[in-house]
Amino acid sequence: MTKNKVAFILGAGFSKCADLPVQKEFSTLLTSDEFSNPIDIVITNAIKDFLKDVFGWKEKREIPTLEDIFTFIDLSAGSGHHLGIKYKPNRLRALRRMLTYRTFQIIDHRFRYSADIEKLLKLYKKEDCSFVVMNWDIVLEKHLQTIDRSRKINYITPSHDWNNYESGNAQDGIKICKMHGSSNWAYCENCKTLFYLLDEKLSLHKKVGLVKSDFRLFDETFTDKHFDGSIGIHPNEKQCRICNNSVASHIATFSYRKSFRTAAYPAIWFEAENILANATKWIFIGYSLPEADFELKHLIKSAELRLKHKKLEREIDVVIYQDDITKKKFQNFFGAEKVNIFDNGLSNYVSSL
Ligand SMILES: [Zn+2]
Repeated sequence: MTKNKVAFILGAGFSKCADLPVQKEFSTLLTSDEFSNPIDIVITNAIKDFLKDVFGWKEKREIPTLEDIFTFIDLSAGSGHHLGIKYKPNRLRALRRMLTYRTFQIIDHRFRYSADIEKLLKLYKKEDCSFVVMNWDIVLEKHLQTIDRSRKINYITPSHDWNNYESGNAQDGIKICKMHGSSNWAYCENCKTLFYLLDEKLSLHKKVGLVKSDFRLFDETFTDKHFDGSIGIHPNEKQCRICNNSVASHIATFSYRKSFRTAAYPAIWFEAENILANATKWIFIGYSLPEADFELKHLIKSAELRLKHKKLEREIDVVIYQDDITKKKFQNFFGAEKVNIFDNGLSNYVSSL
């Protein structure tokens, strides 16, 4: 019997089932006092000053959208320009690393296993499932591991486990396309190798996300010794396992101009389109087709149309939670009769299967 090809497309609402904050909640957490070691305090102050200088933000007020913040930083830093006299390209790049690091801290902050996610994955265990994931977190990987620890993961692009150098693109592994990168990835810009960790408590990004010299750009009194003491890791721990270069995190930020030109992304995007084009069932969970994802929406549309003239039957389920705006977006994107909308959340959807 041939297995059905099922493609899951997962957005922020999926991670919310595992109690991770959605973007709106991120804003308040960006400047939260909960992050309180000396490194965190420098980062919080740098973010606050930037928001005050650039957006006229004041304490306790709502902050601008993450898309605006990251887009302005990316467009200025990427073209070698200032964003006002205080923010030179090198400071903007440092700030981007700090904002990314803080975002990962927020992701790590909360997590709980979701019975609904586990049930869903078990229900589809017998089918040929692949995943297109917009989120940076590893909620999916963690749940897949609880179901079957022996099952390998295929991140599509050549990659290696940071600890044991096992290959992360096993042919027989479950295909997971992390379209915007992943919080458990580190990348070597020199030998272009991607490393990952699946279940480490101290995530890889803690070691690789921050650059010592960035801190002096925002706090002149912050010495290297200060940094090494606060971060609690030896510089060797962030060396590439192959060429000894320093590795860095590898994600595309919230910016409208996400960079997909670096090594891992073209392969991942190419494969995601193939997976979608060949799947006979698409299941969107907690994805809202945001405007900033215009390239991704184009990819989805291309995949949808690739074999349309061959009369390939495809079922499209959309799982959202009481969100009429997103419901309309999907209906307008695919045609109302083409999508099955389930707008009472994942729990309800899983029970209906
Ligand atoms: Zn390397």
